[in-house]
Amino acid sequence: MTDTVVIGAGLAGLSAAIRLAEAGQKVTLLSFGLGGIQLGQGTIDVLGYRGADTLVERPFDEFAAWATEHPDHPYSLLGADVVRDSVDWLAARLPDLLVPGDGRNHPLPTAVGAMRPTYLVQPSMVWPDPTSVAVVGPAQIKDFYPHLVAANLAVTAQVEATGYRIDLPARAGEAESSPVVYAKALEDPDVLARFAEAVLDQIGDEDAVVLPAILGLHQCVQPQLAALLKRPVVEALLPPPSIPGMRINEALTAQAKAAGVRVILGSKVTGFESDGSRVTAVTLHQAGRDQSYPASHVVFAPGGFESAALVMDSYGTITEPVFDLPLAGLDRDDLITGDYWADQAIFAVGTRVDQSCRPLTGDGEVVYENLHTVGGLLAGAIRWTEKSGDGIAVASALRAADAILSPTGTWSPPASPTDQPPAPEVVQTLQEDAEDDADPATTPSPPEEDENV
Ligand SMILES: Cc1cc2nc3c(=O)[nH]c(=O)nc-3n(C[C@H](O)[C@H](O)[C@H](O)COP(=O)(O)OP(=O)(O)OC[C@H]3O[C@@H](n4cnc5c(N)ncnc54)[C@H](O)[C@@H]3O)c2cc1C
Repeated sequence: MTDTVVIGAGLAGLSAAIRLAEAGQKVTLLSFGLGGIQLGQGTIDVLGYRGADTLVERPFDEFAAWATEHPDHPYSLLGADVVRDSVDWLAARLPDLLVPGDGRNHPLPTAVGAMRPTYLVQPSMVWPDPTSVAVVGPAQIKDFYPHLVAANLAVTAQVEATGYRIDLPARAGEAESSPVVYAKALEDPDVLARFAEAVLDQIGDEDAVVLPAILGLHQCVQPQLAALLKRPVVEALLPPPSIPGMRINEALTAQAKAAGVRVILGSKVTGFESDGSRVTAVTLHQAGRDQSYPASHVVFAPGGFESAALVMDSYGTITEPVFDLPLAGLDRDDLITGDYWADQAIFAVGTRVDQSCRPLTGDGEVVYENLHTVGGLLAGAIRWTEKSGDGIAVASALRAADAILSPTGTWSPPASPTDQPPAPEVVQTLQEDAEDDADPATTPSPPEEDENV
């Protein structure tokens, strides 16, 4: 029998699966789709905005005030330290793909030249603070308009920016190419050299070059292109699907498999079996038939409305269709507003959980002792407007995994130094006696204590 079944192959499901498998568990990951990593930007957001227009510069510094303003938000449960440790864990796993965090958000050029904040970026996205930039887009790539991006960057990034088009099909004769086709083509050194020549033919003496995020799918060729162009090159975000997101998805899936996770894609979990207090198996619908997967623990990481983890019927009733979990956040009469740009409270609907990420009833009772919900299904966050979805996904996934790995199956906070019982008097006396008897010439001095600790 599998120790843990993880449902969902997004950032939350993959993170939980890797953590559990590397700790020695037998893990099966079931998912009907690939998850949102490829729809995101290939960056890791922690908290980008407080309110509609307030840009966050140092996300973790905001957590205390955020928790006061949003007591039901997942970050109020998880806390700044756990979220920081979790995204650091992710960055350490992907050293070639993510620049380690330093407490500050990075500004990142979007496909329209706005600068948007994110916490972990790929090395190819680090903004070099140039005085002038050349924004270059191949004519064959739709959804990237270099002149528009340049005009907007001049305002948002306060930089002298000029747009250029190059005409270089990724495949001979192709009038329109997808970013994936380009990204694969540019991994070929000959194509990259031709691409660099085409760029150099167009641009002036700008300090840096901004290109759409197409610089290699399996391997990012930004360093090679920067060497050819003899100046920094920055990948700007494109509308989904995203090449940098695919790089992260591919790397995490490979790590999960290397850790021994059995990954079964294309399979939908439709129900479960229970003995009343615990989930004993999940039911998988695959190849036209139902199959039962018994497990000791379940991590449910199915995302939110965007991945059909929550559904609304024609009467407006919202449900979670697999475990029929109790949902929080339904008690508002403005769940959906007519203002397209306003926060839609419906996206904050989800499960309320305990410290071990186990869903709770309205009365605060744990629904099933061994069922943990993580990521986009957690109540209280409007992830894409806050830019908080990735931080929530990783931190809640690791929290659930750590609960499962603990002997009690629940998570408890690490003991703080003030919780430790005082050292017995006698220990000190014996130590002092020993020190009195010791030969000062042969006794090593104790390590110095850090005053700041
Ligand atoms: C278009 C878009 C843009 C976004 N932009 C941002 C952003 O800018 N910043 C940000 O922080 N967040 C953003 N998000 C949200 C972000 O993607 C998620 O918050 C985060 O990645 C959550 O990951 P997750 O693992 O919880 O869920 P997901 O990545 O959604 O993964 C859910 C997985 O569960 C699977 N699944 C669902 N139900 C079942 C089932 N019954 N059986 C089997 N498998 C199932 C799905 O196929 C999928 O693999 C965006 C989301 C979307 C859709």
